[in-house]
Amino acid sequence: MLSNEFAEKRVLVTGAAGGIGRAAVQAFESAGASVVATDLAGSDIGARRAVYGDLADPEFTNSLVDETQSQLGGLDILINNAGVMRRGVVTETTDEDLRLSLAVNVEAPFRLSRQAIPVMAGGGGGAIVNTASCWGVRPGPAHAVYCMTKAALASLTQCMGQDHAHQNIRVNAVCPNEVDTPMLRTGFVVRGLNPATAVKELGDTVPLGRIAQPEDIVDVILFLASDRARYM
Ligand code: NAD
Repeated sequence: MLSNEFAEKRVLVTGAAGGIGRAAVQAFESAGASVVATDLAGSDIGARRAVYGDLADPEFTNSLVDETQSQLGGLDILINNAGVMRRGVVTETTDEDLRLSLAVNVEAPFRLSRQAIPVMAGGGGGAIVNTASCWGVRPGPAHAVYCMTKAALASLTQCMGQDHAHQNIRVNAVCPNEVDTPMLRTGFVVRGLNPATAVKELGDTVPLGRIAQPEDIVDVILFLASDRARYM
């Protein structure tokens, strides 16, 4: 990353108290960006400009871009990163799993992008980076609703990318494999596994010998958000 690469850029990051989101906020701020960071009430965002609320609440989500504009004077970069992962095959998936997964993983990025695109277009352009998942492209076992929502987000990314390129708005997604974050570790605990051992064993299955750390993914997010990715 180039130092001060994001000077004068105004950024909104969701899921900012989590593993990838927190690292993204720190990286953008270190590179000179002004960042509004959002996550659930009661979470520890630790950023300069924190906005707390539930992305499953359309009223809150629809207000976030306005809030960012009033704090930063505009919006150049949107990072749709918040997500929930409900485990289970279809027959184990409850209506609540379905509702929450669609609301956070699909509807919130949809609503935020819908609000952000006209603001970015009015400012001459912008970039949206969505955190999808490799499971949105090639589904893994026993996470039907999670894989389905990440596939929807990957598709939305491609739709918006082609529809808004003419407004100088680039839309991309990262599709990580396993990343060492609270989401992954909590999943191991729910399954009765020791998270440290499970992370180590998973790492042994990866050609590089380790699973990703949040910063490995954040470097790609920042690249995609930057002018260096101007043709992506
Ligand atoms: P994480 O659980 O550490 O962070 C996710 C954040 O989203 C949390 O801070 C959580 O509070 C927030 N969030 C969840 N529901 C919310 C809601 N209703 N309103 C507001 N905020 C809400 O997990 P992470 O691994 O950092 O996940 C970031 C993104 O990366 C997610 O979209 C996830 O699906 C994706 N991802 C993660 C992995 C992995 O292995 N960790 C792999 C592929 C993709």
